[in-house]
Amino acid sequence: MRRKIIIGNWKMNMTKEETRSFLTSIKLKINTKKRDVVFAVPYTDLDTAVNILQDTDILVASQNMDYHQCGAFTGEISAEMLKEIGVRYAIIGHSERREYYNETDETVNKKTKFALENGIIPVVCVGEKLEEREQNVHLDKIRTQVKKAIADIEIRNIQDVIIAYEPIWAIGTGKTASKQEAEEICSFIRYVIAEVYGMSVSENIRIIYGGSVNTENANEILSMENIDGALVGGASLKPTFCEIINE
Ligand code: PEP
Repeated sequence: MRRKIIIGNWKMNMTKEETRSFLTSIKLKINTKKRDVVFAVPYTDLDTAVNILQDTDILVASQNMDYHQCGAFTGEISAEMLKEIGVRYAIIGHSERREYYNETDETVNKKTKFALENGIIPVVCVGEKLEEREQNVHLDKIRTQVKKAIADIEIRNIQDVIIAYEPIWAIGTGKTASKQEAEEICSFIRYVIAEVYGMSVSENIRIIYGGSVNTENANEILSMENIDGALVGGASLKPTFCEIINE
């Protein structure tokens, strides 16, 4: 049985003071009995978020991480640094990182493997551009992204991977994939994973949807069989985020 997970991605929003005030008030309203809940916050907010949430079951994610243990990698952050302060998840390969910071399928694979080998749960983002959907090549694109992201991951580790299907045309645009479109791709991703690891493994992997999820549409998206949660950007910055989680 796959437990649903809701991950808020704050992107480059919220100062430390705003983090303190937002999380202190929202944590009292969040129900973690039914769903796992994670906040992916900016680096400078990670420590604050972990400390404020330590008396709850809500966990914290970084929005990226490097695939080296340590060394001359200016501007990067390591799994050990994240773990030391209590961060448990990392978003890997978000489309904004692929588009603006040269993240490739190869670096996504390295980061995913490194995260798993170092005790961080990777939330690996995949998804097509609008023109790829219009040209009907979106399934090929997603199959390639998924296969490359999970290449050479040991079977004992694969169960911990979370895949987030995020169609780029739906991120921050207010346009959501319909529940059928989202379900179709999430079940396709499950099938692609099954091609590599078999159906019984694939059945246990969480595949979530992201792209303009809000209080209006969350319920119907989360009701779909192969959608095991949501990656929520803009709507996770609002106090009503707890309604999406608690629904
Ligand atoms: C995201 O940041 O991954 C995302 C899905 O953003 P939004 O919910 O704002 O579309």
